[in-house]
Amino acid sequence: MGIRPEEISSIIRMRIERYGLPADWSESGSVISAGDGIARIYGLSQCIAGELLRFENGTLAMAINLEEDNIGCILLGDETGIAEGSRVGRTGQTVSVPVGEALLGRVVDPLGRPIDGLGEIKTDRTRPVEWPAPSVNDRQAVNVPLRTGIMAIDAMVPIGRGQRELIIGDRQTGKTSVAVDTIINQKGQGVICVYVAIGQKASTVSALRETLERFGAMEYTILVVSTAADAPSLQYIAPYAGCAMAEEFMYGDKKDVLIVYDDLSKHAVAYRAISLLLRRPPGREAYPGDIFYLHSRLLERAARLSDALGGGSITALPIAETQAGDFSAYVPTNVVSITDGQIYLQSDLFFAGQRPAINVGISVSRVGGSAQTKAMKRVAGSLRINLAQYRDLEVFAQFGSDLDKATRDKLLQGERLVETLKQPVYSPLPLEDQVVTLFVASGRTLMDVPVAQVGRFNEEFRHYLRRVRPEIPEGIRATGQFSPADEEGVTVAARDFRANWRE
Ligand code: ATP
Ligand code: MG
Repeated sequence: MGIRPEEISSIIRMRIERYGLPADWSESGSVISAGDGIARIYGLSQCIAGELLRFENGTLAMAINLEEDNIGCILLGDETGIAEGSRVGRTGQTVSVPVGEALLGRVVDPLGRPIDGLGEIKTDRTRPVEWPAPSVNDRQAVNVPLRTGIMAIDAMVPIGRGQRELIIGDRQTGKTSVAVDTIINQKGQGVICVYVAIGQKASTVSALRETLERFGAMEYTILVVSTAADAPSLQYIAPYAGCAMAEEFMYGDKKDVLIVYDDLSKHAVAYRAISLLLRRPPGREAYPGDIFYLHSRLLERAARLSDALGGGSITALPIAETQAGDFSAYVPTNVVSITDGQIYLQSDLFFAGQRPAINVGISVSRVGGSAQTKAMKRVAGSLRINLAQYRDLEVFAQFGSDLDKATRDKLLQGERLVETLKQPVYSPLPLEDQVVTLFVASGRTLMDVPVAQVGRFNEEFRHYLRRVRPEIPEGIRATGQFSPADEEGVTVAARDFRANWRE
């Protein structure tokens, strides 16, 4: 990149001419340097942070570095044709995306432009991608459950509407699957879903879209996609754009929204690339100093609004990837400290066949408990304790017959509980099925069912119960209560069913 004397002299001349003039002289500027998806611009001294800029070739950019004598911006489109000396104009607007019902069922890029080949998105509403989080006064406590349909989560790490629950684990441990199951489980629940893909393979995203379509989940879902091939700038704004779309439903339509950020580790990497190119000082792991703010300002926008504001909510399920189970790396610990709880997925469990590979011992949900229904609370309480006792005793299992009966029983039951919590992908269970299954599993009915058959037994029993005592599951569903009479009914039904069940 050579120095162009005429460029420098024109800047000097402009400075002299404008010296002492009032502020609004610089509505257009010129590029000092451009490349790798960023540009530095001279002029535009009134530019605001996050403002949308337009280059003479039509390319858009977002101003993110406001320095004394220049502005650093990230290019949101084609870089060709932008070189030293190119003209840039302010637009006076911050970067915004189209929002509203028209986006449901669509796949869009981080600027809200359709990329699914289904034609134009007809909406005249837009929202800025950056928006302040609701204040404490604008919020209310989380007290409505958001059910994932995954038994291990709904029973032991319950999530409430408006909560932020991190899904964290190594690669290929089923992180995305947990989020997708949760989206599928929102069918008919009146919850709108936004799935933000950050730096993923295009093939993964199209497989995801097919899955959601197959389960009829696309009709209430928006996919905001930035692939690994996209510029870091697009990956960087993708979650904010998705959040803006979610906010429109929360603030405007007073609805409940679920948003998945898949994943924030890749988001942090994209932001690190941008920051290094903008020559911001690198810190730990070469991330810039504001990496915490990057994710806190995003996740703080998830909320359960007060009744005065309509009571809508955004529940956020951010995903973070760890390397070799290192939960104490920089980005994972940051996100852990921002969220209201974590679901830890572990490779060793995954490979041992325990899927979803949730480590229930260290997974927590700090606010969702108050949103759990009475029925679920009733069966979940003992579940955690039984599992913890089983884990403690597990090491003794090899001594087999040397153990006393109580210990042997605990082991037998623990194995069956673990087996009961296994759940294949795309098969979320409704509340009543979860309650009944967990209730039976914590009793003695399963004790002589071979471990490998427990899944089949549970499933067949659910069908049986719906046939012989349909009012019990219906009652749980309608009232969220699991009365002693129901317990008695299920116990009797389970005994009868066991007597006739063949392995
Ligand atoms: P990545 O790190 O690549 O994003 P991930 O952690 O998101 O991976 P997934 O893509 O959700 O993991 O799942 C990895 C594989 O494990 C998939 O083939 C998926 O079908 C399988 N899998 C996930 N959950 C389960 C489950 N509960 N039962 C059986 N298979 C599962
Ligand atoms: Mg994934």
